[in-house]
Amino acid sequence: MENKKELRNWLDAFGLDHPLVIAGPCSAETEAQVLKIAHQLKDTDATVLRAGIWKPRTRPGNFEGVGALGLKWLQKAKEETGMLTTTEVANAHHVDLALEADIDILWIGARTTVSPFIVQDIAEALKGTDKTVLIKNPVNPDLALWLGAVERFYTQDIKNLGVIHRGFSTYEKTRYRNNPEWQIAVDLQNKFPDLPLILDPSHIAGRRDIIHDLCQTGLDLNYDGLMVETHYDPDNAWSDAAQQITPATLVQMMKDLKIRKEVGTEVEYNNKLNTLRTQIDVIDHQLIENLGKRMKISDNIGELKAENNVSILQTKRWNEILGKMILEGEQHNLSEEFILRVFKAVHQESINHQKKVAQMQGA
Ligand code: PEP
Ligand code: MN
Repeated sequence: MENKKELRNWLDAFGLDHPLVIAGPCSAETEAQVLKIAHQLKDTDATVLRAGIWKPRTRPGNFEGVGALGLKWLQKAKEETGMLTTTEVANAHHVDLALEADIDILWIGARTTVSPFIVQDIAEALKGTDKTVLIKNPVNPDLALWLGAVERFYTQDIKNLGVIHRGFSTYEKTRYRNNPEWQIAVDLQNKFPDLPLILDPSHIAGRRDIIHDLCQTGLDLNYDGLMVETHYDPDNAWSDAAQQITPATLVQMMKDLKIRKEVGTEVEYNNKLNTLRTQIDVIDHQLIENLGKRMKISDNIGELKAENNVSILQTKRWNEILGKMILEGEQHNLSEEFILRVFKAVHQESINHQKKVAQMQGA
């Protein structure tokens, strides 16, 4: 598959002057809940109502969705509000039921995208459809797997496609429920600039207080849309309670977000510059996180050395590190002088950390 302008026809057809907004609850809970949220969203920037009917849960025993019954609620919400509808499909049977219920957009969940067999089945069940299919990134940070899923739909003659970035799972606990790894989405965007890219800040965050910042980063990186979990009573939602926001909060957030519009060459220049700057910000953030992690390990080394009465500075080890880093630096077009400066500073900070630990241990 190569980049094609036609990939974004479905999105352009909306003629929106703001990013596409998909909003609604994590799960459809009751008919009244779906209808109430749809009415609260109807006169906002949200064009599409989302609600999960079949909920993939990592562990059994959590709410697994209301099933096919919920499709009728989405249909009713569409009739009453004019909003388009979207839900997750995870097998060919779901596809048949969703098509029967005339759901407008189908999304493929992160736990489905990981499996080429299931993706292939779903793609074949949808062959030639003019419905839009949005493919969430797989739970593991693997761009090829994500693209592979997009290609499976494309080769079944499904041309209304888009991708949803919902972050990647990590064993290590971070401030995110799913680590954004922005670079993966940026790489995908560079390869397929016309494939609509939508941010799902809710599943990246896992908590509502950082949804706004995530959306701003997404918009600064030129994302085409946002999918935000929205519920009138987030704390009592049957799934993903901590990350949902109210429709009113969504409206306020859309007012507060800085949305860039591409018109005129100066604006275009600024947009490009902003996108590149945001890419740099993302990497700087990773640098700081990694430096922090490195110093935590230094603390552990400091403790170990103090316990064993070993001196902090070990010249042989240090020279080995420098030699290795200079060679690695060369492969990445980084000068020897630069590597020396950076690593001397890193080494000094590491020694300071180890000294502090040794002092605390009274060594
Ligand atoms: C969801 O959108 O509610 C969902 C289950 O998402 P994901 O597949 O990204 O975990
Ligand atoms: Mn959810």
